[in-house]
Amino acid sequence: MSKVLETRRARRFCAAPDCDNNSESCTLSFFSFPKDPERSKKWIENSGRFDLIAKKPLDLSKNTYLCTNHFEDSNFSNIKNKKNRLTPTAVPTIFTKSGIPHLGTATNQPILDPGMENNMKKRLEKELEKALKENEILKKMNKKLKLLNAKVQRLERRSRHSAYLRRF
Ligand SMILES: [Zn+2]
Repeated sequence: MSKVLETRRARRFCAAPDCDNNSESCTLSFFSFPKDPERSKKWIENSGRFDLIAKKPLDLSKNTYLCTNHFEDSNFSNIKNKKNRLTPTAVPTIFTKSGIPHLGTATNQPILDPGMENNMKKRLEKELEKALKENEILKKMNKKLKLLNAKVQRLERRSRHSAYLRRF
């Protein structure tokens, strides 16, 4: 890009939550977010700007920037000069705070704390034990019921037989 176009470019604001720098208020460089989705994600995660995650990396790369202050020296390919060129793998790591709660820590937490989980497990084990006992009782009752049924059938047969005999 030519020098003329460079100066005509719209003012760039730093997207870091802890930073008010813009291209008119300072002489720092402003680096656009990477087009590569993986790297773009890293920039978003490190800066804490999780509200940007829904945007396309390509769109972010056109209008979203971070200033020099968020990159360690090792990220610059021209550290001895102006520090206005990043290495292809540069990732911003210097942030004093993130503006939005870190989603990572929120989603990594287990839904149940270990104590609650243990209690629930114990309760389920007890319920299972109870159900197994009830099942045993039911089995025994079923056996008894079958025996009683057989007995009833025998008695019925016998009474039918005696009724038949009584007709004579
Ligand atoms: Zn900044």
